[in-house]
Amino acid sequence: NKVITTEGISRIYQMGTEVIKALKHISISIDRGEYVAFMGPSGSGKSTLMNIIGCLDTPSEGQYWLNNQDVSDMTENELAVVRNKEIGFVFQSFNLLPRSTILDNVALPLVYAGIGREERLERAQKSLDAVGLGTRVSHKPNELSGGQRQRVAIARALVNNPSIILADEPTGALDTKTSYEIMDIFNKLHENGNTIIMVTHEEDIANYAHRIIRLRDGLVERDEQNMDITKI
Ligand code: ADP
Ligand code: ADP
Repeated sequence: NKVITTEGISRIYQMGTEVIKALKHISISIDRGEYVAFMGPSGSGKSTLMNIIGCLDTPSEGQYWLNNQDVSDMTENELAVVRNKEIGFVFQSFNLLPRSTILDNVALPLVYAGIGREERLERAQKSLDAVGLGTRVSHKPNELSGGQRQRVAIARALVNNPSIILADEPTGALDTKTSYEIMDIFNKLHENGNTIIMVTHEEDIANYAHRIIRLRDGLVERDEQNMDITKI
């Protein structure tokens, strides 16, 4: 049961007369329920690949199927619809709305999905319960710690029941102890059957994932099961 299949995808950037091949014929597939970390040095193509997987960008060559749907040649608008339905994003910088309560922050993706207010608030509450913030719903982001803010962002990523959770350096702005608390939440989400894909350059964070894919110069250098999974 594949949730992601890419076949020979490349991404070429044209900068004036210079042509940069950021991804070179990448073929990977990821099953539903997998927990995958992408690693690799700066410039190896991680962001480019995550942007394609997250339907923020499309490949220059090759095919990408998300949930058996070919998204390689979709227009911006079509991609936005797929993104809203299929992907839950978690960023290094949380990206919360500062003036909205955390309940409203978490409910926001459901506004775009056209869901009525009552159901939105109910689902946002459930999502916040799942990350242990169910009693803080009326707080504003600046009344919370960094770790709590990232938990709000995770609740927002979950609220649509996405096919995949895409986390870009989710612990990059957090101290070590808080980072491990966030990884503990990812472990629980994985146990509950969620598909998680994260980018990190920290080995100890990548070690929570069950599969580690290493990129170098736009190629998959290594793709292996993690035999040394970190559990709290
Ligand atoms: P990583 O996330 O691993 O640091 P990136 O995907 O950001 O790698 O970059 C891969 C390569 O593509 C690098 O050589 C980078 O300079 C180039 N690149 C990335 N984005 C752009 C862009 N928008 N325009 C031109 N070149 C880019
Ligand atoms: P960084 O990891 O450098 O701190 P972010 O994690 O904030 O950056 O964002 C990573 C990428 O995702 C950026 O290219 C940004 O344009 C894009 N992005 C940020 N927020 C959103 C969002 N809410 N929806 C879609 N794309 C976003």
